[in-house]
Amino acid sequence: MSASARIRFVLVGTQHPGNIGAAARALKTMGLARLVLVAPEKGVDEEALRRAAGADDLLLDSPVFANLAEAVADCQLVLGCTARSRRVALEELLPAVAAQQAVQAAHAGQEVALVFGRERTGLSNDELELCQRAIHIPSDPAFSSLNLGAAVQVLAYTVRMAMLGEVAPAAAEPGPRELPAAHGQLEGFYTQLGQTLDMIDFHKGRSPDSAMRKLRRLFGKAALTEQEVRLLRGILADAQRMARLAGQADPV
Ligand code: SAH
Repeated sequence: MSASARIRFVLVGTQHPGNIGAAARALKTMGLARLVLVAPEKGVDEEALRRAAGADDLLLDSPVFANLAEAVADCQLVLGCTARSRRVALEELLPAVAAQQAVQAAHAGQEVALVFGRERTGLSNDELELCQRAIHIPSDPAFSSLNLGAAVQVLAYTVRMAMLGEVAPAAAEPGPRELPAAHGQLEGFYTQLGQTLDMIDFHKGRSPDSAMRKLRRLFGKAALTEQEVRLLRGILADAQRMARLAGQADPV
């Protein structure tokens, strides 16, 4: 399978179908073929088809998911495009660096998602939290927001440049023997981690959100493999068992 087949462009909550069409055209011109929609406000319509200008196949093949977590559940690398520079807690990459990472990951057999937000409000904080890193097109800070279709075009072109720059994909270094954990597995781990922290009374009345955000960042940087996630979940299971035993031993 070629690298481009492992890179999906995910549009979240798109408000104008015309932009979905423009995104399809942007991808097809750059030899990319995977457009994924998350809860679009209006699905593919006449305007979308008109703006796709012949990239109808991509448009009509695009799967629709109810939320971002489901759309990227099988991905090992998830990068979120944001118009708001330095307002996110994530490491922020230039498009060329992000594209390089995406293409390298795809060559190593990983599933990659580049995620784009709504026209009016972009990606929510919860959605950005599902991303390992942010991508910001270094636009004028005083007028930083590109049209959604234009942002997709910039990234699609940059990904194509990165793919053309790869001298010989077949001869590329073999990937690590074990794949990084997929997104869905990591979410399972974070859920169990949250439950365990509650059980051992780690938060002591404080809101768990801030600690969980920091822990997500920490584990995000570690690029955990499937095996490492299993190890950590084993530790959490034991901690939960001990917390239950301690709870039973406590005088009521
Ligand atoms: N008003 C929104 C802008 C949304 S533009 C906001 O403040 O976030 C729609 C989408 O296009 C964004 O969510 C983002 O994914 C992408 N986009 C627009 N401009 C961008 C930029 N300068 N860098 C990276 N992505 C950008």
